[in-house]
Amino acid sequence: MDERARALDAAHRAATSFLATLADRPVWPRATLDEMIDVFGGPLPAAGLDADTLVSDLAARAEPGLVAIPGGRFFGFVIGGTLPAALATDWLVSAWDQNSGSSLVTPATVALERVAGQWILELLGLPAGATVGYVTGAQMSNFACLAVARRAMLERLGWSLSRQGARNAPDLRLVVGDHRHGSIDRAARLLGIGSDDLVVVAADADGRMRPDALEAALARIDPGHAIVCLQAGEVHTGAFDPFVELIPLARAHGGWVHIDGAFGLWAAASPSLRDLMEGASDADSWTTDAHKTLNVPYDCGMAIVRDPADSIAMFRTGGDYLVYTGLDPWDVTPELSRRARGVPVWAALRSLGSDGVADLVDRLHANAVAMADGLAAIPGVTVANEVPYTQVMFRLDDDDATRALGAAILAEGTVVVTGAEWGGHAVLRCSMSSWATTPDDIERSLAAFRRLIDAA
Ligand SMILES: *Cc1c(COP(=O)(O)O)cnc(C)c1O
Repeated sequence: MDERARALDAAHRAATSFLATLADRPVWPRATLDEMIDVFGGPLPAAGLDADTLVSDLAARAEPGLVAIPGGRFFGFVIGGTLPAALATDWLVSAWDQNSGSSLVTPATVALERVAGQWILELLGLPAGATVGYVTGAQMSNFACLAVARRAMLERLGWSLSRQGARNAPDLRLVVGDHRHGSIDRAARLLGIGSDDLVVVAADADGRMRPDALEAALARIDPGHAIVCLQAGEVHTGAFDPFVELIPLARAHGGWVHIDGAFGLWAAASPSLRDLMEGASDADSWTTDAHKTLNVPYDCGMAIVRDPADSIAMFRTGGDYLVYTGLDPWDVTPELSRRARGVPVWAALRSLGSDGVADLVDRLHANAVAMADGLAAIPGVTVANEVPYTQVMFRLDDDDATRALGAAILAEGTVVVTGAEWGGHAVLRCSMSSWATTPDDIERSLAAFRRLIDAA
């Protein structure tokens, strides 16, 4: 065997032995960053190391600093696991090493991504002609979509952003909800829009944008000058903005509508949860992730734009050496060279089938409901949201006790939930985003919560 084959064998062995530990290893890491830096650090030795020795040694030394994200009891933030077909094809993506910006150079991977994009539009009930750009995640998708929105809106006002730039451009306003995700603010910042420039619209108690508040906000903006940023799936409550009421208001005002649905857009794939997404297909652009609800490996999100002309006008590059062959992947994302991160999306969708995608989303919701019911039955625990989707929030009567429980859970190791503030209280959040979570994982987690609360 050559060095490459031996190194891949070593990676295979290390990966399967890590995955075999998931059922029983502590979910939270057992080493700190500083300890890991000590393990891997020091001056770079002058002599190199054989690849297979290096892989085995690296994997063994990383072990205590790994977090069990691919297992069934990681409920922190909003983080998915990895479906087997997606994981294995992700390895192929690296082995193939296809620079997938151009359809001329890498037809196999570009075709897989394009077909996966069409499947996604169908599953999520979005317009069939929309462009799907594969980016690293919802953060970059929000950035890409808002960049497209700004250029298109300025164009309609007779201003060419590509030629004239942003200086002296007509005054567009970015309208956002009070409970938008922080990545919207970062996307705005990348576009030169500061927090004082945002028009923030009040939300209801579950974090949904209020239609009366949007109407009042739009009344203070010139028609045709608003980009309205809505949300499918609030990260604490899982609540969806009321698109049926909000989008017509934005439309009547001549606004662009963007929806951040990093995990929420997937509700449309489930017949029983689809109502949450009612009206969402009327937007102009959509953000979603594949590495959350769809359970492909990091990193993969999608920037979806209704009118291909808008995304192409924003992103198509010049360059005499870049051969134009129709719609290229680099025409619809900020990246030029990139890995074929959409191939695991094709594999995840094909391995599940459309019924399997619906079942996956339903199962994540059912896990959230089971977790909420189990938590509500523990004396002293308050479940703080209605659980319309995959997010559960809970707290104890006392904020310090809630925070202490959060720290004790990570130390104990059975399960990971992460903390936040909601409604003036410290809360703990469980996000049901992993295909790997079983009813037994929910039971084991609830038993750990009960033990820790009894012991406190
Ligand atoms: C996770 C999330 C993001 C950011 O997504 P990344 O994939 O981490 O870039 C944006 N918006 C919402 C609603 C999210 O849940």
